[in-house]
Amino acid sequence: MGKTSKDKRDIYYRQAKENGYRARSAFKLLQIDKVFHIFDGVSRVVDLCAAPGSWSQVLSKRLYENNCISMSENNLDKDDVKIVAVDLQGIIFSKQAMAPINAPICVKQLQGDITQLSVANEIIAYFDDKKAQLVVCDGAPDVTGLHDIDEYIQSQLLLAALNITTHILANGGKFVAKIFRGKDTSLLYSQMRVFFKKVSIAKPSSSRNSSIEAFVVCENYSPPDNYVPQMIDPNTTALDKNIVPFVVCGDLGNLDSDMSYSLISDGKYEYKEVLQKPISPAYKEILEKTKNLSLKHQNYLLKETH
Ligand code: SAM
Repeated sequence: MGKTSKDKRDIYYRQAKENGYRARSAFKLLQIDKVFHIFDGVSRVVDLCAAPGSWSQVLSKRLYENNCISMSENNLDKDDVKIVAVDLQGIIFSKQAMAPINAPICVKQLQGDITQLSVANEIIAYFDDKKAQLVVCDGAPDVTGLHDIDEYIQSQLLLAALNITTHILANGGKFVAKIFRGKDTSLLYSQMRVFFKKVSIAKPSSSRNSSIEAFVVCENYSPPDNYVPQMIDPNTTALDKNIVPFVVCGDLGNLDSDMSYSLISDGKYEYKEVLQKPISPAYKEILEKTKNLSLKHQNYLLKETH
């Protein structure tokens, strides 16, 4: 039997409510930080797939705490610490855009799709042409319940997140993203290892054991030499060179599949028996019942039942 929403109100749900977090997932990021110290030395962060915003709330709080000493010592302004949150919400889904986070550090919100290069450019512009030191992504598509399909869609979203990260992350930076553990986990791990010196898979205790969710924690961004970040975009000129040939087959002067033709073409119509009749048509039962009736009567009954 499915869980009711009351059953889901576990200890982290309650703690999120008590601590003013918008979702229990805040604790996942906090627990990952406890082990990997992902916020150390970080002042520019991107939160991909951020709505409703509990990770952004954690980022705002932790970056403020981590940077307040250096703010007073180095005369840094709060504005030197920058957080960008990106989500589709507000543009594609009928759901409302994420509510603003203004304190302690203001979170800049972008309503956009992480697969778009324009989003990467907007982030860099907000960072005054500097790159992020940390990118986090808790992105998840709506799950179908079909394990293999969900795992595949999640892996595509993770690759999209990695793709945009290669545009916006500074060398040496960190990337944390949700994955669904499954048969392709080793492949995803290898793909991450191409770009990061160290890759771990973490399962925070606030993430339910029954869930296949885990997080890749990638440290020390070091793309291959001469690597040029690129988004696969069907509109790019590189793909224009590979236009698929479109070949029409059959005689163009012949019958057109989009036209309706009269049965009587040269003044006469000859009925031909169908060679392969449907094996178990929906109307089989009614045919059985009406086989002794006239054709006209049968047609009448068939029309009535449809
Ligand atoms: N980390 C968030 C928090 O703590 O509140 C929760 C994120 S929620 C599990 C997943 C989000 O991913 C959804 O809000 C959804 O709109 C977003 N998403 C999915 N695909 C996306 C895409 N291609 N671009 C931007 N956001 C996306």
